[in-house]
Amino acid sequence: MLGFRRWQGIVNRARGLRRSRILMYHSFTPGGWRYIERSILRKQLEVVSASYEIVPLQRLVDDLACGRSTDRSVAVTIDDAYEDFFEIAYPILEELHLPATLFVPTGYIGKHNDWEAQPPVRLNVMSGSQLRELDPAVVTIGSHSVRHRVLAGLTRQAVEREVRQSREQLQELLGRPVTLFAYPFGELATYTMQTQEVLRETGYRAAVSTRSGTYGSAKGLYELRRIELHGGDSPAEMLSRLAGDWDWRAGRELANYAFTRGRPSAR
Ligand SMILES: [Zn+2]
Repeated sequence: MLGFRRWQGIVNRARGLRRSRILMYHSFTPGGWRYIERSILRKQLEVVSASYEIVPLQRLVDDLACGRSTDRSVAVTIDDAYEDFFEIAYPILEELHLPATLFVPTGYIGKHNDWEAQPPVRLNVMSGSQLRELDPAVVTIGSHSVRHRVLAGLTRQAVEREVRQSREQLQELLGRPVTLFAYPFGELATYTMQTQEVLRETGYRAAVSTRSGTYGSAKGLYELRRIELHGGDSPAEMLSRLAGDWDWRAGRELANYAFTRGRPSAR
């Protein structure tokens, strides 16, 4: 693995890429998508913050944009804004004084995860008053579109509606600018160059996918990759994922995309 990491470092530096370590979480309820249990979440955040500085995603984006070093930074993100974030993850982040970004599908505020035909568990999405209750010094709110649909297949007008309406709704609700976006489902096939263009024109500064990897660049701010820590990871395995030892999966993802013709399967 060390050989891979060194080789990858040389190739990526030559390509002008910098480290972009963004953790991705979804659910904290048993049966939920990529569920992480409360005590494991705490352990993961403690292990990561002992070795890296956990920074707001916006700061990581600014550093990438300006070419500043991102070697010691990790950003934490959570998709879907389930109530279990409010009840389980938020108190831990507050207690450990760690910033995170929460991506909200605005059409589902105060409703359920009905964008899945048959969700394994029915999860509540946070209400408007819960979103307003979050301390902005801890949680930055980003958009996860309105209806949580794959954006790649929509017309340009429909994409514009999804990204503009969700941004306006959140800005009105929170009274703060919303500049970060997470693609629904987020795999390679779920967004296009046009989607990225619409986001830029609408006023977003960056967007995250669910693609795996630890490198990004100023040119790639609208297709940032993320890393998932698994529930069973030992501290050494967590740090190894953050070190980029699992980035070889990016190659497998491309092969998979060609094979399945890009049918999304993640949330
Ligand atoms: Zn989602």
